[in-house]
Amino acid sequence: MNIIILGPQGSGKGTQAELLAKKYNLDHFDTGRALRQIALLNTPLGKEVHEIVMVKKELVPSRLLREVLHIRLNDLPREQGIVFDGVPRNIEQAGYFEEALLEFGRKIDRVIFINISQKESLERISKRFSCEKRADDTIEGVKKRLDIFTKETMPVIEYFEKKNLVSRINGARSVEKVFEDILNTI
Ligand code: AMP
Repeated sequence: MNIIILGPQGSGKGTQAELLAKKYNLDHFDTGRALRQIALLNTPLGKEVHEIVMVKKELVPSRLLREVLHIRLNDLPREQGIVFDGVPRNIEQAGYFEEALLEFGRKIDRVIFINISQKESLERISKRFSCEKRADDTIEGVKKRLDIFTKETMPVIEYFEKKNLVSRINGARSVEKVFEDILNTI
């Protein structure tokens, strides 16, 4: 089973991806986390990724994402299902993502879109500022990423909708309720 999970900042897609991974024994490919780990490396690649993810708060270019994706797909046996968390995020990525999956003998079984309003998203991320962790979580960083989501990732959801692959889930509820809805659609 290969599942894509997409949603704006604070939608809980990471949490839901983890729950899905546990329940169905899937590999959790958290794109943002993979990139943040690369950003810690003291190498030219690490510095480049750091600049884009942590400083500019933009999407990394296709050549980098392609490489990260290929390394992961190459490392996993075909029978091992994957939950793709945060990829593809724009139409260009959707194209080569589908190609890469095909090349590795996989198909997309379902796209889960966890939907929350921009207001809810900002409120949730503001709470995250006080208790955590992520160096790219700043008000201006979140606004920028929300903007990217609306302009670049929503068209990906519409693209997969035309293929009847999308389940839209109301993310403005408890983790358990959201997970229950997801389970009902797959
Ligand atoms: P996330 O943890 O999903 O919020 O992602 C954190 C950051 O990683 C994003 O703001 C981007 O800079 C980068 N990133 C994550 N996924 C992608 C992707 N599919 N394509 C390009 N950049 C990405």
